[in-house]
Amino acid sequence: MSTTVAKLVLERLNGRADCQARKHSSRLQVSVRHFPDGTVGVKCFGGCDTRDVIAAEGLTYTQLFPARNRAERQRHTQIRREVDARENAHETRLTTIYTLLRRADALIRDRGQALQFAEQHGLMTDAAWDGLIRAFRLKQALEDELALLNPRLAEIHEIGREAQG
Ligand SMILES: [Zn+2]
Repeated sequence: MSTTVAKLVLERLNGRADCQARKHSSRLQVSVRHFPDGTVGVKCFGGCDTRDVIAAEGLTYTQLFPARNRAERQRHTQIRREVDARENAHETRLTTIYTLLRRADALIRDRGQALQFAEQHGLMTDAAWDGLIRAFRLKQALEDELALLNPRLAEIHEIGREAQG
C-alpha cells in the first residue's frame, strides 16, 4: 500500500504520495514537503490544484499550516477563558444584587409598616418617612446597577461568540 498525502501531511514527513484528485493517468505524483516554519507544502506534478489534492484526502487547507493553527487555537482558548472568568464575576455580582434587592424589598415593607404605626400614633412620622425613602433609594440604586450590568453581560457574550467564530 502506498503512502497517502494525508498521512504525510499529518505526520509532516517529506516524501512522495499518490494523488487522489486524479486528473492525470499516473497516481504517484504528489510531493509533500515540511518547511522549517511548520508549513507543509503539497504539490501535484500532474497539474492538480493543491486544494483538490488535499480535499481528495479529506484534509482542509488550514491543516497545511499547523503552527499557525495551534497559535490561533491557543489565542481562542485564552479569550474563551477570559470571557468565562468575566462571566463568572458578573454572575456573582448579579446574584449579590438580586439578594440585596430582596432585602431592600423586605426593608421597604418594614419601613412602610413603621410609617403606618408612626402615623397611627402621631409619633416620629418625619423619621419614619425618611427611613422609607432611604429604603426606596437603596432599591433604586440596586436597580440602576442591574441595568448597567445586563448590557455589559451581553457585550461579554458577544466577545465570546467572536472568539469561537
Ligand atoms: Zn494530481
